[in-house]
Amino acid sequence: MTEAGEIGPGSFQCGQCGVCCRTQKVVLLTLGDIFRIAERLGMRPNAFYRRYCMKSDRLNDRGLTRIYLKTEGGCPFLEGRQCSVHGFKPIVCARSPFYYVESSLAVLKVLGVIVPGCVIERLPYGTVARGDIEPLVDMEIEVDATDEYLSRAGKFDEKTARPFYDRLRQRLADGTERALTYRRLLDESIRREEAYRNDPYYRGATQMYLSGFYREFREEAGRLAGLHPGLSVFEPAAVGMTGGDIIIVLQDGDYKVAKRRLEGKECGIDVNASVRSGIEYAAVTVTIDGRPAIFFYYYLDAARKSAIRHPPGKVSITLMNSKKDAFAFTGDDAAGWLQ
Ligand code: SF4
Ligand code: SF4
Repeated sequence: MTEAGEIGPGSFQCGQCGVCCRTQKVVLLTLGDIFRIAERLGMRPNAFYRRYCMKSDRLNDRGLTRIYLKTEGGCPFLEGRQCSVHGFKPIVCARSPFYYVESSLAVLKVLGVIVPGCVIERLPYGTVARGDIEPLVDMEIEVDATDEYLSRAGKFDEKTARPFYDRLRQRLADGTERALTYRRLLDESIRREEAYRNDPYYRGATQMYLSGFYREFREEAGRLAGLHPGLSVFEPAAVGMTGGDIIIVLQDGDYKVAKRRLEGKECGIDVNASVRSGIEYAAVTVTIDGRPAIFFYYYLDAARKSAIRHPPGKVSITLMNSKKDAFAFTGDDAAGWLQ
């Protein structure tokens, strides 16, 4: 990899740490994946489906269910740090993390495509990740054909799926369909990048990576963890404000740890904030007996925050999980190392 400002499948050297496969909870499968992988494993597609696949219980943005690998307890094909089906793995795994014609690493990070610790994070977040066009077109046509099949059949069965799989292979060879698909993917890439940089909902997170705050946060977390073994570092699932309180929604596991460590304790709170491009970014250290116990960040639109914030010097933070269990802290808001 270089600092040249672009990266793609040809120049990315995976560190083979296996983290993305271990933490991957959603691996989309196409009809092509099911038929191809089943054949390579010497299984009937129906047997493969029963053993390795599940249908989502939620509708996607097209109002359809989709088929995924069963990944509870980790991907069934991960052996140590290696993919045991590497040569014929699911099409979404083969494209990862270059799912789009072009995208900044910042947007891939907001989308959760890049996991913490991946070697790609050593590059600046403004780096453009450029996917290979033909493989992306293949993936799009495969996903589309699978959606079409499921919208008609409702569930997978190799007998009803076979004609759709044959038709899918014809579509993959159709030059006109490929050209139109590429055009659509390119337009979508441009629109997605603009939306994630400008949309009020995503802008704070995207700018967090582009501004360098996230890198500084991780470095400070590493420094603190070296000084205080047992420090818990959280990356919030969401942040927001209600009635003047800063709300931090943690992943359920992180929330449990925070609650266990903090509930009923005398805590200190230290907020080190800086404003960049109209967004306030803050690293929050919660201390117990003067020692850092929990470290996390938040970001808020600075204009909105100044309109409803607490009296100067005080900040109130509520930690919450996805079930809306919550507890709050109040402490001094200071300026510090991020300025
Ligand atoms: S997290 Fe990154 S470096 Fe590690 S296996 Fe996945 S792509 Fe490779
Ligand atoms: S199929 Fe292979 S590449 Fe995909 S998540 Fe599983 S182990 Fe990783």
